[in-house]
Amino acid sequence: MGFDFCSFSSGSNGNCYLIRSESVAILIDAGIGGRRIWEGLQRTGTDPGALRALLLTHEHSDHIRGLASLLKKSGDMAVYANENTWGAICAAAKATAKGRIRHFVTGEGFTVGDISVKTFAVSHDAAEPVGYTLRCGDRQISVVTDTGCVDDRLFAEIRGADTLILESNHDEDMLKYGKYPWFLKRRVLGNEGHLSNAAAADIVLRLLRAGEKKRRVLLAHLSRENNLPETALRTVRNILEAHRDSVGANLHLDAIPRDEIGLLYEI
Ligand SMILES: [Zn+2]
Ligand SMILES: [Zn+2]
Repeated sequence: MGFDFCSFSSGSNGNCYLIRSESVAILIDAGIGGRRIWEGLQRTGTDPGALRALLLTHEHSDHIRGLASLLKKSGDMAVYANENTWGAICAAAKATAKGRIRHFVTGEGFTVGDISVKTFAVSHDAAEPVGYTLRCGDRQISVVTDTGCVDDRLFAEIRGADTLILESNHDEDMLKYGKYPWFLKRRVLGNEGHLSNAAAADIVLRLLRAGEKKRRVLLAHLSRENNLPETALRTVRNILEAHRDSVGANLHLDAIPRDEIGLLYEI
């Protein structure tokens, strides 16, 4: 059963991910404009008519900036968000959703065509931020970005993933010695901020130790100021090697580009 993932944009400049089966297409977040999303659909050969759902993680502008323009372009696509996230989005953007909003209770699930969706809480300074696990047949993808930490409860939500979209936001030294003001550094580094490259490596290590399974981990939501794709990949690989778990046959590791449409991955 076909089940694909593609990032249209990732990071503070805007986040939007496509997940599609043979019959439906789902977007996670609309942090870029409708026109760029349409370009992504075209480049991946996705019929815009298959677009059934937009799943929102939280209300920060890099995740909802393109909401109104996307809603105008997409006739019958439903928008899924919990009530607190929806409540925190500005009225002008919400007005375009007219009757298409579906509220979920965080922790619960729902289905969109042949894809089942599970929601779970993450730790981030927003109203009620969530991550998602999507299943189609026996395949699973989990998306965890914008979280300051991954505790046991959150890890349990993602440990079955064949493909994991995992935040690897910053290199801690680049952030600490960089030009961000102190309050922002504290926010990013905090428990409700963003995962560092080293924190992402710890999670990958836990995943590898959680069982023999071929997995793909795509590092996401990389900071423009405080990270580089090669820095993120090198940090994760170094930490895995230090623990003698090499990035070998059981793990395919990659970084998602920030400003461009990424590769189309089969899950
Ligand atoms: Zn955020
Ligand atoms: Zn974000």
